[in-house]
Amino acid sequence: MTEPSLDFNHRPKPPTAAEAINALVDAALVAENGTRARREYLGGSRLGDPCARRLQYEFLDVPRDPDTGFSGQTLRIFAVGHVFEDLAIGWLRRAGFDLRTRSRAGEQFGFSVAGGRVQGHIDGVVVAVPTPAQGVVAVPALWECKSANARNWKEMVRRGVAAAKPIYAAQIALYQAYMGLTEAPALFTAVNKDTSELHHELVPFDGALAQATSDKAVRVLQACDAGEWLPRVAAEPEHLECARCPWRTRCWS
Ligand code: SF4
Repeated sequence: MTEPSLDFNHRPKPPTAAEAINALVDAALVAENGTRARREYLGGSRLGDPCARRLQYEFLDVPRDPDTGFSGQTLRIFAVGHVFEDLAIGWLRRAGFDLRTRSRAGEQFGFSVAGGRVQGHIDGVVVAVPTPAQGVVAVPALWECKSANARNWKEMVRRGVAAAKPIYAAQIALYQAYMGLTEAPALFTAVNKDTSELHHELVPFDGALAQATSDKAVRVLQACDAGEWLPRVAAEPEHLECARCPWRTRCWS
């Protein structure tokens, strides 16, 4: 049997400048995110999630599977989304839209129901539009803004937000209902993060969807209070929703 040869010249490859710097940025972002107070309510923007059990995990702050927390890159994607939203606000205002996003006290508009256990914060309300848009965009209208990569953005343009992103449609319907903005269609703005193209869609109030979303929130809260798990969204862990779910191992083991 031959002796394994020893390579005394082997040195671990040092990280490139990009790798070293990015590791520091990621670590800082993840650490900062870890200090955020836990959200003790069901967020209205999440209630359109197709899996009610996942909403329970979120609400109950059940630990995620190892290595499934928000990465630095994911946190940057969230932050970039806020920047695009701010840009869209500025663009619409420059075009003559009176878009209100904060109260006089500087707070985001929102609602809190079920004893504070369901809350939502809206992107804004359009209270007046420039003359050419009068008769096209009714006010006051809920304004909701999302940014997306080119593929998802094109899908929303092609199919409409309700078909392409049901989770956004549920959020819009619920927010319209709880904010009392049901008369005028909501104005949904989507920014293409790759090309900076803008898409706007008028979304009429869907009362049935708002009711179903609100009912789901009640079901989730009641099940959590009772210590029961609601049915999984799928019959097997290979389902698309489960494959990318941060509670997959816990849920199916
Ligand atoms: S693993 Fe699947 S069923 Fe379980 S919480 Fe996640 S999405 Fe729902």
